[in-house]
Amino acid sequence: MMRRSPVRLGTALFASWVLGMPAAAHAQEVNLYTTREPGLIRPLLDAFTKSTGIKVNSIFVKDGLAERVTAEGVSSPADVLMTVDFGNLLDLTGKGLTQPVQSAALEKAVPSNLRGAQGEWFALSLRARVVYASKDLALKNVTYEDLADPRWKGKVCIRSGQHPYNTALIASYIAHHGEAAAETWLRGVKANLARPATGGDREVARDIMGAICDIGVANSYYVGLMRSGAGGPDQVKWGQAIDVVLPTFRQGGTQVNLSGASVAKHAPHRAEAVKLLEYLVSDEAQKLYAEVNFEYPVKAGAPIHPLIDALGPLRVDPLPIGDIVRHRAAASRLVDKVGFDR
Ligand code: FE
Repeated sequence: MMRRSPVRLGTALFASWVLGMPAAAHAQEVNLYTTREPGLIRPLLDAFTKSTGIKVNSIFVKDGLAERVTAEGVSSPADVLMTVDFGNLLDLTGKGLTQPVQSAALEKAVPSNLRGAQGEWFALSLRARVVYASKDLALKNVTYEDLADPRWKGKVCIRSGQHPYNTALIASYIAHHGEAAAETWLRGVKANLARPATGGDREVARDIMGAICDIGVANSYYVGLMRSGAGGPDQVKWGQAIDVVLPTFRQGGTQVNLSGASVAKHAPHRAEAVKLLEYLVSDEAQKLYAEVNFEYPVKAGAPIHPLIDALGPLRVDPLPIGDIVRHRAAASRLVDKVGFDR
């Protein structure tokens, strides 16, 4: 703590109470609020501390991160806010809970469509919305637009249209083609369903193995979770029963969601917070961070887990994430309008 004003002292005491450690134990520290299990990223945070001497106090905030930081107000001890899903990340900025960061290292590592225009947030890892397909099809290429093609009638599996993974995909579709075209497309996909839009992404692979459907839409990282054995022996079989194709929009790339981080608006350790973000886009950290959940590193050229690398090169859709997020409400309305989940 640099300033010893009553307010900042209060912050220090509050922080040490929250974090369960003595306030003056470390000259340099940074407070991380994360919706991602801190245990999973602990090795990474320890490596950061080892190389910089900055201690990381992490707090797992499973739900209600924005509400919590809002309630803490100007005396919030939060320095870095880390979330999964671009909706959650951009909500923090939308609610004025983040601050701009200028950093050559971050701007070099994170493509401009995957960070806030003023550095209010940065993607750290990516997950792609991909197509799982029966091996019998020997499918090599597919577009998101194709999913509405009548050739797939009765052959498509997908989870609820209202799940954030799907509203994000539909929002991307709206960003590419407009709302009217997206409605036509969604009606087409609905007409192609092999079963109700329910279950999880991994059940798409299970149901392809069970010959209930031929193709389906699911996240890339579940391929790693299934094929690695992390989800148990049944899921290994599901993972091995499918081919994985990275679809693209006809005039674009593959739809991605992300995990990322921001510097909190009232960060008491701003400089350390920026250092932590910069560390998280180093090659070493990118590999560890992305592998936690079989994701793609955001930084081009950073090592990718072999099970994910084997899916082929990811060509990320170039539309700015901010342009997609603003269509989420419309996407959710379309899902209801076309009765996708009925
Ligand atoms: Fe998931």
